[in-house]
Amino acid sequence: MAGEPQDDCLFCKIVGGHVPATIVRETDTTVAFRDINPQAPTHVLVIPKAHYPDAAALAAGDPTLAADVLREAQSVADEDKLESYRIVFNTGPGAGQTVFHAHAHILGGRGMQWPPG
Ligand code: C5P
Repeated sequence: MAGEPQDDCLFCKIVGGHVPATIVRETDTTVAFRDINPQAPTHVLVIPKAHYPDAAALAAGDPTLAADVLREAQSVADEDKLESYRIVFNTGPGAGQTVFHAHAHILGGRGMQWPPG
């Protein structure tokens, strides 16, 4: 069923407390934790607790939950006092997605270029 935890999913294991993570925020529906391989002074991932393989599936399956993820992204930026920041949803392997549980990257604290690589 859509949203059910997946045994082989790393981020479902973080939600369940079976894999450690540096959690910075948690709500009833989301978890935010520091990326293990940070690409900027602030690099936090916000994930829905429910399992959706990517942002497109999340938006289609539970738009309210997708909005929760975006609201939490804003809260992370506020907590780290980021005036400018980037929210990234890598969607599909060709875009660099490596973990197939929807997640928003919040990156900030340094200058950034456009277009991204
Ligand atoms: O968008 P993508 O799927 O590549 O992002 C996955 C992210 O999850 C990577 O930035 C990686 O460093 C991070 N990660 C993590 N903790 C883990 C495994 C991966 O923060 N235990």
